[in-house]
Amino acid sequence: MKTGVLGGTFNPPHKGHLSAAEHTREALGLERVLFIPTNLPPHKTLPDGSATTQQRCDMVRLMTKPYDWAVFSDMEVRRGGASYTVDTLRALHTAGYDNLTLIVGTDMLMSFDVCWRAPEEIAQLAALAVVARGLHDRPALHKKAELLRQTMDARIFFVECPVLTISSTEVREMGTFEQMTPPEVAAYIREHGLYHRDSE
Ligand code: ATP
Ligand code: MG
Repeated sequence: MKTGVLGGTFNPPHKGHLSAAEHTREALGLERVLFIPTNLPPHKTLPDGSATTQQRCDMVRLMTKPYDWAVFSDMEVRRGGASYTVDTLRALHTAGYDNLTLIVGTDMLMSFDVCWRAPEEIAQLAALAVVARGLHDRPALHKKAELLRQTMDARIFFVECPVLTISSTEVREMGTFEQMTPPEVAAYIREHGLYHRDSE
């Protein structure tokens, strides 16, 4: 079964995540996309006032619920410790998922061979689908993709879709929950008074 994997901190999940998954699914004919919140992200510390791990999971569960192709997975949370994508892909592979596509924003492609653990193994375990975030110019991206293809036989697809420049950081800082997160997530943030929102 062709399966997409979208990992992230989802602090909070937003329309950019959903759009990236949806457009990749359509472009590559994925049957499902797993949304996998990190337990502890290896490369960033969550700022004060962040949602708890449980709350991040709740929000991703709510965001994926309306779509039959979108599946929430708590496998990284259950595994505990720092969440490395290579461990997740290995576990999925062992569980029988043999046609995996890792969905990443352009920022993640640029840091792939520099910051990620075992990038060669990741490239063997999954194809990479890259969704533009408007953060990097196309020549730099294509140069990076070519390098990864040559050095680690990476299978890389660029997904053509409208660019959403949304990030969780911006959504938290600007407080644009109602506009930038799906209604179910915005309601959860309001009800739980997350990110210093007053509960109503
Ligand atoms: P933060 O601001 O906390 O870093 P983020 O918005 O980048 O949050 P993450 O949870 O870090 O969200 O991202 C998970 C994955 O989703 C990454 O591969 C990231 O590149 C991708 N992604 C996030 N936002 C977008 C977007 N607007 N368009 C395309 N891909 C996105
Ligand atoms: Mg990010």
